[in-house]
Amino acid sequence: MVEWSRDALARCATLDELSEVVRACRNCGLRQQARGVVFGEGAPTARIVFCGEGPGAEEDRLLRPFVGAAGKLLDQMLRAMGFDRFRNAYILNVVKCRPPGNRAPTEEERERCRPNLEAQLALIRPAIVVLLGATAIQAFIDPGARVSRVRGQWVVRDGRWLMPTYHPAALLRNPGWKREAWEDLKKVIDKYRELVDPAHDTPYYPLPKRAESSRDA
Ligand code: SF4
Repeated sequence: MVEWSRDALARCATLDELSEVVRACRNCGLRQQARGVVFGEGAPTARIVFCGEGPGAEEDRLLRPFVGAAGKLLDQMLRAMGFDRFRNAYILNVVKCRPPGNRAPTEEERERCRPNLEAQLALIRPAIVVLLGATAIQAFIDPGARVSRVRGQWVVRDGRWLMPTYHPAALLRNPGWKREAWEDLKKVIDKYRELVDPAHDTPYYPLPKRAESSRDA
C-alpha cells in the first residue's frame, strides 16, 4: 500500500509512480467528500501544461480532468492551438479532489495540495503553463490577483512562462470573452514557437510567411 508524504512525492521518478502516491493523499478535507483523486492527464513529455481549478462533478465521476462541458471547450481550444491532451500537452488542476458543490478551493486547500502540483511540474518540466481562471492564477502568481487585471500578460517564475487567461467554464458563461481569450492563446502559440518548436503550426494561427526578400535572394 502506497502512503502519501512529501518524501514519497520526492522519490517518484515517473508520473505513473507519482500518480499512485497522489491518489493516496488525504492532506486536506476535500478528499472525504470526493469520489477520488483526479491526478491529471496528458503527454509526459509535454512542454506545455494547462492548469485549471479543481475537478467538477463529471471529473470526479470519471476521475479524469476536464471531461465535462468546460473540458470539451478546452479540447477545442487546444485543437485550435495545435495541441492535443494526449500528444503534446498536459492537463491538471490546482487541487486534485472535487470541492463540494463546485465551490472554489480555499487558500488553505490550495496550499495543502501544492506539494502534489509541484511534484507534477517537477517531473513534466513544462516551459509554459497556461493558467485557466482565478484559482490557478492566484495559486501561481498572486493570491490577490484578478483575472481581468492580469490576463494576457506573461509572468516568469521558476523558469516557467506563465500565461493567465480565462477558465473555459467562464467562457461558456460569457461567450463574449472568447475573443480576448484567443488573443491570450495566440501569445501562447508564439511563445511555444519561440521556446519549444519553431515549426509548431495550426491552421487557426498559421506560421508567419517567410519574408519575400529571402525568397528573392
Ligand atoms: S485536494 Fe489535494 S491535498 Fe486535498 S486530499 Fe485531494 S490530493 Fe490531497
